[in-house]
Amino acid sequence: MAELRLSETRDLTRIERIGAHSHIRGLGLDSVLEPRAVSEGMVGQIKARKAAGVTLELIRDGKISGRAILIAGQPGTGKIAIAMGIAKSLGQETPFTMIAGSEIFSLEMSKTEALTQAFRKAIGVRIKEETDVIEGEVVTISIDRPASSGGSVKKTGKITMKTTDMESNFDLGWKLIEPLDKEKVQSGDVIVLDRFCGKITKLGRSFTRSRDFDVMGSKTKFVQCPEGELEKRKEVLHSVTLHEIDVINSRTQGYLALFTGDTGEIRSETREQSDTKVAEWREEGKAEIVPGVLFIDEVHMLDIECFSFLNRALENDMSPILVVATNRGMTTIRGTNQISAHGIPIDFLDRLLIITTQPYTQDEIRNILEIRCQEEDVEMNEEAKQLLTLIGCNTSLRYAIHLINAAALACLKRKGKVVEIQDIERVYRLFLDTKRSMQYLVEHESEYLFSVPIKNTQEAT
Ligand code: ATP
Repeated sequence: MAELRLSETRDLTRIERIGAHSHIRGLGLDSVLEPRAVSEGMVGQIKARKAAGVTLELIRDGKISGRAILIAGQPGTGKIAIAMGIAKSLGQETPFTMIAGSEIFSLEMSKTEALTQAFRKAIGVRIKEETDVIEGEVVTISIDRPASSGGSVKKTGKITMKTTDMESNFDLGWKLIEPLDKEKVQSGDVIVLDRFCGKITKLGRSFTRSRDFDVMGSKTKFVQCPEGELEKRKEVLHSVTLHEIDVINSRTQGYLALFTGDTGEIRSETREQSDTKVAEWREEGKAEIVPGVLFIDEVHMLDIECFSFLNRALENDMSPILVVATNRGMTTIRGTNQISAHGIPIDFLDRLLIITTQPYTQDEIRNILEIRCQEEDVEMNEEAKQLLTLIGCNTSLRYAIHLINAAALACLKRKGKVVEIQDIERVYRLFLDTKRSMQYLVEHESEYLFSVPIKNTQEAT
């Protein structure tokens, strides 16, 4: 296998923008995992959030391998929001991958390949890499010795630090606590030190031996290490996923394929090579595995083969934590004629810790809508908020959330600054919710091509 270059691995930058769940910043739990009524963008769903908090602890303690979590509930009751809350609470360091069940079938790869890639995207590898403290061009440090430290003469000296391949010129007997940022340090840079005490030898012409230097200013610190054991190396941690290692390992363009997303199918030999390499690093103490979270929404869209794959994948030592969600009740398991709860086969259901979400109360809907107004930077007066809450109760939370931005545009059009009732009414008339859309179809049934009478579709479902 081509030697893996760790420096090629990069963390992908997460692009933050206002999305459906950008207001969710965590699960909104206190220090003893009790949900606060409104916190971190989360409102209500107390029981579900409490259960999610317990699973969070299990995840953190690494006690959840071989099992998975199912979040089940009616549409728009915050299943994805809770999954996002779990992800945010775990922190940036824990990989979180989210896919919809239907994506497995729409990618240009086999179902099991798509699932394998999703699993490996959710397994982090924290790699410790040793690098030289100071790399690159010559760095100059100027030392200023004040009169108080043993002499009346204020001396200024220059220490020329060479790159490590010219070690003979670099014998400080000290190591940097906060190493110089090698990206930023340029040849000829002057670094002013805060405090500097100790022996300096072989440092060119300026000093041969000096003690107790108090140096003006502060940019970096030194700490003593035994003479002769100059510590010139420091540890750098890279966080990558197993999938990223596979891609770097399988493609000539290396990590760039991660940005294009054009990774294609990855051969099993490539994965084996990555696993062997990671196992070697683990044995040498150079790497550790960080199981992340794989979230599969619309899990009822998976078929019987996918469920059998998941059963097996969960047995793997390195398996990530699997969180799945569905809004279906009793339904057919895809790929069979069998009906089962949530369209999930009984053997897979048996592995799941099930969390259920409940419909929201009027107050909770109002709170969520207020949070969304803040998130979308929309100012709305009290009456408009009341009307929007009512609409949310009678239609759906999601429909009411969608009206926020549309109403803000209507407000802008009439050159208003604050969204009023008239703006909400206007967009409510413009965009139909599901009930009115159904009603419209009933009334205009005969005008549509190939229309099946509504009565028959209801019987069929
Ligand atoms: P579906 O079954 O249709 O996929 P869902 O249960 O996954 O729906 P979400 O997408 O999580 O529902 O919720 C709909 C919207 O309401 C999202 O913008 C979500 O962030 C927000 N939301 C839902 N529940 C909460 C909550 N408890 N606190 C704050 N925001 C919430």
